[in-house]
Amino acid sequence: MLIPRSITTEKISYPLWEDKGIEVSIKRLDQIHELASGNKFFKLKYNLEKAISEGHDTILTFGGAYSNHIYASAAAAKSANLHSIGIIRGEETLPLNPTIASALEHGMHIHYVSREEYRKKTESDFLVSLKEKFGNFYMIPEGGNNEEAIKGTTEILSQDDSEFTHITTSIGTGGTFSGLANKINKDQILMGFSSLKGDFIHDEIKFLLEKYKITPEGKTQVVDQYHFGGYGKVNSDLIDFVRWFYKEFEIAIEPIYTGKMIYGLFEMIKDDQIESGSKILILHTGGLQGLAGFNHRYGLSLPL
Ligand SMILES: *Cc1c(COP(=O)(O)O)cnc(C)c1O
Repeated sequence: MLIPRSITTEKISYPLWEDKGIEVSIKRLDQIHELASGNKFFKLKYNLEKAISEGHDTILTFGGAYSNHIYASAAAAKSANLHSIGIIRGEETLPLNPTIASALEHGMHIHYVSREEYRKKTESDFLVSLKEKFGNFYMIPEGGNNEEAIKGTTEILSQDDSEFTHITTSIGTGGTFSGLANKINKDQILMGFSSLKGDFIHDEIKFLLEKYKITPEGKTQVVDQYHFGGYGKVNSDLIDFVRWFYKEFEIAIEPIYTGKMIYGLFEMIKDDQIESGSKILILHTGGLQGLAGFNHRYGLSLPL
């Protein structure tokens, strides 16, 4: 089982927002667990409970070599006394990046497969071959989206958050956005900022909401123009913003997900796209472990 720590919601102030009559707070989901933090805690929580209740001692999941989901799965499994297996897309590269190194440290068994093989990850033949190789396991899909993840992410917002008019989150696969959409009240707007390039994300969100039979009580909005060129892509504006944010508010964010969301939100406030009187709740979805990987990959030293 994953035991949550208590988390804080902090008001952050900036003269421009005060002038515009907008309040901004940030809910620190990144504080919820020492090892498996942020939205991944919520996505994994009920998966681990189900794995244990079904008598499994091992979980298996899929991801890229810099995947926050892989790291979080390894850490969460360890905290729950489960074994974990990570099926990683592509070949091993040395030295190991911090994501894979930490996953190994948390006892994950890492198994590399070619990109071609990886594409078959949802086919039953491939899953059978994995069972032959590794024995029985509880499978969590790539990106971690399933019924259990939706149930978990529905719990991100609590009664205390009902006073906010806007809830903002970053979007990768859209699983977290969908769970949140399940919870917002009729007076709230859920804004999701896609970290991937392309308008496919609108259809993907629609698909997920239908698949999980979610009819949001409030409004939902998917913003797709702050992707900075695509998943994992950044520019110096974004890197400067992440540094500025840390200096200004003493809260570390990363440029893959949370940085793009907060950058986009602040631009929208600047451009008067958010009305005066709004009370915004930013969800800090974590990902700081991924920041170590990012610093490593680009030779940067963004504050953790
Ligand atoms: C994985 C992740 C997301 C994206 O979550 P989805 O449910 O895939 O949309 C957002 N922020 C951080 C920090 C993440 O690690």
